[in-house]
Amino acid sequence: EAKKRQNGSVFYSASLDAGSQESLSLLSELRHAVEAGELRLYLQPKVDLQSGRIISAEALVRWQHPERGLVPPMQFIPFAEQTGFIRALTAWVIEASAAAWAQARAQDLALRISVNLSTRDLLDQDLPAKIQAMLDAHGARSDALCLEITESAIMDDPQRALHTLQQLQERGFKMSIDDFGTGYSSLAYLKRLPVHELKIDKSFVMAMESDLGDAKIVRSTIELAHNLGLSVVAEGVESAKAWRLLAALGCDEGQGYFIAKPMPQEQFLDWLRAWRA
Ligand code: C2E
Ligand code: CA
Ligand code: CA
Ligand code: CA
Repeated sequence: EAKKRQNGSVFYSASLDAGSQESLSLLSELRHAVEAGELRLYLQPKVDLQSGRIISAEALVRWQHPERGLVPPMQFIPFAEQTGFIRALTAWVIEASAAAWAQARAQDLALRISVNLSTRDLLDQDLPAKIQAMLDAHGARSDALCLEITESAIMDDPQRALHTLQQLQERGFKMSIDDFGTGYSSLAYLKRLPVHELKIDKSFVMAMESDLGDAKIVRSTIELAHNLGLSVVAEGVESAKAWRLLAALGCDEGQGYFIAKPMPQEQFLDWLRAWRA
């Protein structure tokens, strides 16, 4: 088994054997992390590329580990997905996002928060009701939340995923296709999904200034999305030039380091107030 080593300790890789001793201890560590409040909600803004206004942000989780420091999601999300712990983790992220929404609102900052869902979340028939309950508890309407779902998460079990997506839509949640262009969903299928937004994967956006092929993919994805009546977000906007190029192509929103990196929730609200001032 491939093991990732970090700071000298065995760390997370998607290939950890589910029944192994390491994986069992990691699972209990993750459980502990949730109970001990070690997870952190980071928020990264999405900007309207035409007006420069910011009305939404993506929730990105990190693990503030007492010894290992700030652990990025790719070091525990795949493991959480593999073991099914992702459902508890997703619930934590949605609860934290609803609380962040309420905190922003208390400061007169209108915000929609996007949360990432994984394959296993889409197989959870109770998910729509659970999300609703968490939003209700914070006085948030369903459109305060957008759910980001990757093409590959949907294609894992398209029938069941579609069923969950329809239920989410009935409750009024916004939905977005994440990492578009990296999966294999057919256009015929895409047309049937009850989503309102498509996110162009950052690999294409980051390469478009130097690679004509990537530039063409970005351009045609924007066209495709608009033809399907979807709003388009470009990820990985790392320069002023990329912003200008995307705006010229009619892309609706942008997200990336040029605008801001993901920030801890409290810092994000200060940042947002300054941006809007
Ligand atoms: P993603 O959903 O595609 O999220 C976007 C990732 O791109 C984030 O990485 C973000 O920090 C990074 N990013 C944003 N702008 C730029 C840029 O301009 N340049 C570059 N190079 N990167 C940029 P992060 O936060 O490390 O998250 C990685 C992945 O982990 C996410 O990819 C998502 O698949 C997963 N993830 C993060 N938080 C959650 C969560 O709460 N639940 C689930 N299920 N997955 C999560
Ligand atoms: Ca995402
Ligand atoms: Ca993405
Ligand atoms: Ca991604």
